[in-house]
Amino acid sequence: MRRHMRVPVARLQAQHERLRAELEAAFDRVLRAGSFVLGSEVEAFEQEFSRYCEVRETVAVNSGTDALILILRALDIGPGDRVAVPALTFAATAEAVCLTGAQPLVVDVEESTLTLDPGALERALRQTRIRAVIPVHLYGHPADLDSITAMAHAHGAYVIEDAAQAHGARWHGKRVGGLGVAGAFSFYPTKNLGSLGDGGAVATNDLSLARRLRQLRDHGQESKYYHTLLGMNSRLDGLQAAFLRVKLPHLEQWNARRRTLAQFYRRGLSGSRVVEPLSERYEAEAVYHQFVVRCPKREALRSFLAQRGIQTAVHYPIPVHLQPALSFLSQSVGSCPVAERAAREVLALPMYPELDDDEVRFVCETVRDFEAEAAR
Ligand SMILES: *Cc1c(COP(=O)(O)O)cnc(C)c1O
Repeated sequence: MRRHMRVPVARLQAQHERLRAELEAAFDRVLRAGSFVLGSEVEAFEQEFSRYCEVRETVAVNSGTDALILILRALDIGPGDRVAVPALTFAATAEAVCLTGAQPLVVDVEESTLTLDPGALERALRQTRIRAVIPVHLYGHPADLDSITAMAHAHGAYVIEDAAQAHGARWHGKRVGGLGVAGAFSFYPTKNLGSLGDGGAVATNDLSLARRLRQLRDHGQESKYYHTLLGMNSRLDGLQAAFLRVKLPHLEQWNARRRTLAQFYRRGLSGSRVVEPLSERYEAEAVYHQFVVRCPKREALRSFLAQRGIQTAVHYPIPVHLQPALSFLSQSVGSCPVAERAAREVLALPMYPELDDDEVRFVCETVRDFEAEAAR
């Protein structure tokens, strides 16, 4: 059996080499057209992404973070408002809320998927009024939108999806991003659909919200130099849109490959006494932005894997409410126990479409070796 194999956590180079000719042609097309900010490539991408997400409108913006900020601002959420966010997510979810002047209400996650826990949300809503809730489809697995939406609507609050890790995922057969009032996507290079720089989008079925978002992303202009809203500069580049148009037709196949790899991992790790993969709920079709296992001996496992050449990652080592930048929220240790324990136990194994079957087998065998040594 092999004792060493280099398995990195990402392999973007391989994807880009395969698409090199098409990406270069896209670059040429934009250079010739000279349309660098918004323009026809962005409009074409917006239509193609809308079709993919099964929504009426896509508004392309500068990043996933801006997508969240713009949705909140378009809904007039700001100072004095509270917005519920899960305790385990990338900091941007809570950061976006703060940047509008509103205050995040950090809510615990559920054990099986580590997405926002409807029970914890219900308890929080007994004490606090919120304007919106932002479920995060963490690691590509949709949050429990049935319960979350029912609860939010009972309280007159909006559901804003953070779909930055979940392009193409489905809940009850429907694409995420279009299931709340609006969904935020990121095209950061390592996401399931990534540009060659920063990029993001809002998906929505609400046409007047889309109109407002288009205005807000471009300095609030209603027509040229006529500003009826205070907006910002959050426009997508023509180049990024052209690159994304090269990649989008492959996304379905890439996500299918991620799902196949996830099955290999589940089979290879089943019955393990040291690692436990997160679950996939029957209502969900996850797109495995990450394949995450829980392991109480995480740091030991992590260095064991690293010695054999296998890179891993931790998303995220510190829950949102315990980040120094958010200490003003005064949500103390113990307020989100599930997320706090998960932050100590989660480990993301290599997961990307370019990963091959042998590599997954090697990762699983190496976890088994760790298990055997730990038992000794
Ligand atoms: C990546 C990410 C974001 C932010 O997207 P950017 O494009 O990097 O601004 C927001 N939320 C989640 C859950 C993310 O993973």
